Amino acid sequence: MESAAVPASRIRIVLVGTQHPGNIGAAARAMKTMGLSRLSLVAPQRFPHPDAEAMAAGAADLLAGAERHETLAEAVADCRWVAGCTARDRRIALEQLTPREAAPRALAQAADGEVALVFGRERTGLENHELQLCHAAVHIPANPEYSSLNLAQAVQVLAYELRVAQLERAPPPAPVPAARAEPPASHAEMEGFFGQLADTLDAIDFHKGRTPEAAMHKLRRLFLRAQPDAREVRLLRGVLADAQRMARLAGGED
Ligand code: SAH
Repeated sequence: MESAAVPASRIRIVLVGTQHPGNIGAAARAMKTMGLSRLSLVAPQRFPHPDAEAMAAGAADLLAGAERHETLAEAVADCRWVAGCTARDRRIALEQLTPREAAPRALAQAADGEVALVFGRERTGLENHELQLCHAAVHIPANPEYSSLNLAQAVQVLAYELRVAQLERAPPPAPVPAARAEPPASHAEMEGFFGQLADTLDAIDFHKGRTPEAAMHKLRRLFLRAQPDAREVRLLRGVLADAQRMARLAGGED
């Protein structure tokens, strides 16, 4: 996971002019659950505050490590890409993205530099001059009749999309072989089994005039893929031995 974690460490969440300290705490918790750790506060109305600590729960470390700035311009001065989250359409010439579109973009930008996702005030959102500092606007496609999410919940949606995008970028984990008590059977054990299998197929007249090679070829592939251990090969050979015995009995009755 380490390589996948690198871009996320270059992504900061910036909360501008937050009114309720509880929302700062809840945003920190939303971030930490999704593996984000960099919180930046621009002119929060009340902070530090016990409500922030209470809502942060196990994410109080993010509050302790939060940066403080007087203006958004200061908070994003070192950023290469800045996205502003808005609850409503603004008449501003900015590219509009959904969180699902924004997340991979943010990760790609974070490969080369610092990235910020910016969230506005509870009552009034981001001001137009603040949106003008952004490269793109992100809108969660909510109910058009009631599109304004709680601030921390909006942070959660963005943080979740970043998480998913990051997991999708990470190479899939190498397949873990199922735990086995014994190592796979040896080549000689497998060949002994295949020899007995071929004899058994003859004895039970499985091929019925067809050439035996085609079926044996497929059966070999199947059993080699399964990589049975020595004990499993003995079990299979026990089954074959019984089938051979039954075939002998049936042959004797003919
Ligand atoms: N009344 C404000 C809403 C502020 S909600 C307004 O109309 O702008 C507080 C912050 O949460 C917003 O500034 C935005 O950053 C984020 N937010 C809330 N709902 C959102 C949505 N549907 N899409 C994107 N961000 C949203």
